Amino acid sequence: MISVSEAIRQISVLGATGSIGCSTLDVIGRHPDRFSVYALSANNRVDALVEQCRVYQPAYAVIADEDYADNLSDKLAAASPNTTLLTGPSGLEQIASDPNVDVVMAAIVGAAGLDSTMAAVHAGKTVLLANKEALVMAGALFMQAVEISGATVLPIDSEHNAIFQCLPEVVQNGGKIGSHGIRKIILTASGGPFRDWSLADMRSVTPEQACAHPNWSMGRKISVDSATLMNKGLELIEACRLFTVGPEQIEIVIHPQSVVHSMVDYDDGSVLAQMGNPDMRTPIAYGLAWPQRIDSGVTALDLVTTGALEFEAPDIQRFPSLRLARSAAEAGGGASAVLNAANEEAVASFLRGDIPFTGIAELVESVLEAAPAAEPLTLNDVKEVDGLARDLAREFMIQKNCRWG
Ligand code: NAD
Ligand code: MG
Repeated sequence: MISVSEAIRQISVLGATGSIGCSTLDVIGRHPDRFSVYALSANNRVDALVEQCRVYQPAYAVIADEDYADNLSDKLAAASPNTTLLTGPSGLEQIASDPNVDVVMAAIVGAAGLDSTMAAVHAGKTVLLANKEALVMAGALFMQAVEISGATVLPIDSEHNAIFQCLPEVVQNGGKIGSHGIRKIILTASGGPFRDWSLADMRSVTPEQACAHPNWSMGRKISVDSATLMNKGLELIEACRLFTVGPEQIEIVIHPQSVVHSMVDYDDGSVLAQMGNPDMRTPIAYGLAWPQRIDSGVTALDLVTTGALEFEAPDIQRFPSLRLARSAAEAGGGASAVLNAANEEAVASFLRGDIPFTGIAELVESVLEAAPAAEPLTLNDVKEVDGLARDLAREFMIQKNCRWG
């Protein structure tokens, strides 16, 4: 129970209409005594945003794609008359940094979430970080901004949330991981829908097959990333940044049941794991209430029904994205931003049906080899690297398409 004097926390949800956004609103809706929705954003899903505003009556609604503002305006006025409509990137940054906001859920997908996530960090908010791409792209700059502003970043990605839960309290509260007897971090991966497939079979995978994840229900981009295992590669880089460890301290293990969400291996031989049913409402509830715990709506884990928990080494021949991400993490500088941008372009092309599934890693590798990757010193440098990598990805796509046919 929270005390009556404890103020209700005001929340902005960036990317409210997505998979993480909807799960966040589900958890918030269970605790009207703790949380209030201050602002919601969507890219272009007008009707979904209007319905959310009807239910939560936020102070602000943001439609990122300005072309949809007219369509939204009348519907919003009818559904939630006291909600102010904002548009575009400036609207997103406004709701991320508004002085009335306590907590920002950063759940826009991809590089599109960079500026608003950074705005929340600069404003010193409690940032619930789902938008891993922002951290992968901006890396050191992101973490420097956290130190300067005093923002609290709580990882929502289930693996990083699990690792966070397995860390000593002093590290959770900002202490460095170095002197706490931690040997390594073990990042688990389900292996995705093609865990047992041969490379030859993976060539003809369709977007629908790639988006049908065996354990998790997610947006399309992260579903494809999970199928190539690039998601685990991005998560390796994310973990290096969040927990200030080198890539050599992180082991990736395939765990098809997605029950152990990740582990921390200590010097004394103890391995702490966080387990639960695969449902993002658990890490979201943990982030919203930390350091307390609240009901998330997730059913209790039944280990007897689950039965065996299996673990195996990943196969980097069939899943080259893991090798590419690890080498980008080792290279440092702007390599992670290049990796992320090339991957976003490649995944979008695959989802449009323009390149084969196995072409995603091939394209990312070519771009990584060709792009200069000096350390970006400003956010503009990050965007420049991002743009350059996307240009290269598009050029390679034209060249390779002749061969992919
Ligand atoms: P999604 O595609 O379901 O939703 C994305 C949200 O971002 C939507 O609200 C959409 O309107 C908004 N958006 C998209 N493009 C935008 C743009 N250009 N400008 C502004 N807003 C835009 O994605 P998701 O699965 O909810 O994932 C969101 C983030 O969370 C991703 O970074 C993903 O890697 C991360 N994540 C997701 C899961 C999951 O289970 N879905 C788990 C871990 C991490
Ligand atoms: Mg994850």
